[in-house]
Amino acid sequence: MAAQLTDRWLRKEYLKLNRRWFDGKLPRNTVVKWCDSFPKPDNGVYGRTVTYRASGTKPGAPIIGFGITISRRAERSGMATVMVTLLHEMAHVKTWRSSRAPHGRVWVMEMRRLAAAGAFDKLW
Ligand SMILES: [Zn+2]
Repeated sequence: MAAQLTDRWLRKEYLKLNRRWFDGKLPRNTVVKWCDSFPKPDNGVYGRTVTYRASGTKPGAPIIGFGITISRRAERSGMATVMVTLLHEMAHVKTWRSSRAPHGRVWVMEMRRLAAAGAFDKLW
């Protein structure tokens, strides 16, 4: 079996995609990691984005950062799945404030923007 890609590699890809497709505007402090034990069931979900808020404050406190986890299942599916999943999660980071439903209109518009710009070319 091929060696698993590292968290460090994944974070570098995040930073590269940020520069290439988001004008470098997504937060650089986003925690980007692989997840070996992604929650069941396996329903085709390969990634997750969470927010970090200032500790000791009530819910609704300002977001101070984001965390992206990518399932190892995505890696086993191939590089295209990894990159599409990462872009999917990055669209969540970008649209978080304006999107109450995670895959609502604002997020869909962001995915369409990425597709039109060519971010998914050669990935599907
Ligand atoms: Zn999503």
